[in-house]
Amino acid sequence: MQALYRVALLPGDGIGPEVIAEAVKVLKAVESANGVTFRFQTGLIGGSAVDATATPLPAETVAICNNSQAILLGAVGGPKWDSVRPEVRPEQGLLQIRKRLGLYVNLRPVKVLDSLANYSAIKPVYVKGTDLIIVRELLGGIYFGNPRGIFSKNGERMGVNTEVYREHEIERVAHRAFQLARMRRRKVTSVDKANVLETSRLWREVVTRIGRSYPDVELQHLYVDNCAMQLIDRPTRFDVILTSNMFGDILSDEAAMVAGSIGFLPSASLGEHSALYEPIHGSAPDIAGRNKANPTAAILSAALMMRYSFRMESAAEAVEKAVEKVLKRGAHTAEIAGRGRPTSTSKMGDLIATEVAKILKSKNSKKK
Ligand code: NAD
Repeated sequence: MQALYRVALLPGDGIGPEVIAEAVKVLKAVESANGVTFRFQTGLIGGSAVDATATPLPAETVAICNNSQAILLGAVGGPKWDSVRPEVRPEQGLLQIRKRLGLYVNLRPVKVLDSLANYSAIKPVYVKGTDLIIVRELLGGIYFGNPRGIFSKNGERMGVNTEVYREHEIERVAHRAFQLARMRRRKVTSVDKANVLETSRLWREVVTRIGRSYPDVELQHLYVDNCAMQLIDRPTRFDVILTSNMFGDILSDEAAMVAGSIGFLPSASLGEHSALYEPIHGSAPDIAGRNKANPTAAILSAALMMRYSFRMESAAEAVEKAVEKVLKRGAHTAEIAGRGRPTSTSKMGDLIATEVAKILKSKNSKKK
């Protein structure tokens, strides 16, 4: 019987729908080459959901997600919704879905392919060979802690946010990082600010304790400021970077510059029972609707979905290989400095989908 995978598509705002359309194109190429079926259901999230339903995460979208094995999301937000009430801001849709589905770990691989080294903001000699993965805690820390808000006291307003980490939140994400390291180069760098923050001191203590159960994995602790510096200076030294919600958010955008463009980096957010895949970039309102966005991160997110949710390792590898081949041939979207005319979003999707079909066809004929 033909395998059937239920996928929720949440294109979102700005360039979200454009890049998700290209990821779907690539999944369809896998479908016809491998004889599997992806059953897509599309839902609203973010600003487009606010416009249609006055909420960034409508109940119907939650139902679609609950009825799917995996979720593929574009991006949310944009200046149009900057002045709406905080509780209905588009970004709340994303924070809420992560929380509802218990997606407590975010994986952000950063691999500098040889063909990409020249696109990096850093000299190729420093970035060549970079192959790291950021394991970011996703449900705790300062993005969720209470009290929060803007309050008035003694005639002056003050903004308050609170960083909270409970032991079990650190334990579960640390286990994921060590397990992942075992499948890679067996090195975990835990990043915190233990010289200043109590939450970081607890983080360091708990990660050290969990690390004792993985004696075959080397553990190192680094302050976040030092990590930020070393990511630029010597990105190849890192294997698995384990860190908190906010530090991971910031470090992964920095790591994107090592890879050349934020448009190359996918992510996977995993819980015990659900998984959401999305590019790390935002809705890029400055280029939305102009067929200029780089769809690679969304396409590579679909590859992660096949790897982690559907155990389709061979198809995931085919997509990654196809991206590499297309880039090697010189195709690139407008945000990447390079020679020649830039390739449009839709053309880039076509090129990668065609290459995926070719790679899978050749794999299948070798099997026969
Ligand atoms: P952004 O990632 O949208 O854009 C930053 C810069 O990178 C822009 O110059 C943009 O044109 C460029 N860029 C981003 N993705 C690209 C792609 N695929 N191809 C080519 N260029 C790309 O970040 P921002 O400008 O800080 O935020 C814009 C909006 O997106 C805000 O409303 C923000 O809240 C939201 N946002 C959403 C997410 C998400 O949905 N996960 C993440 C970050 C930001």
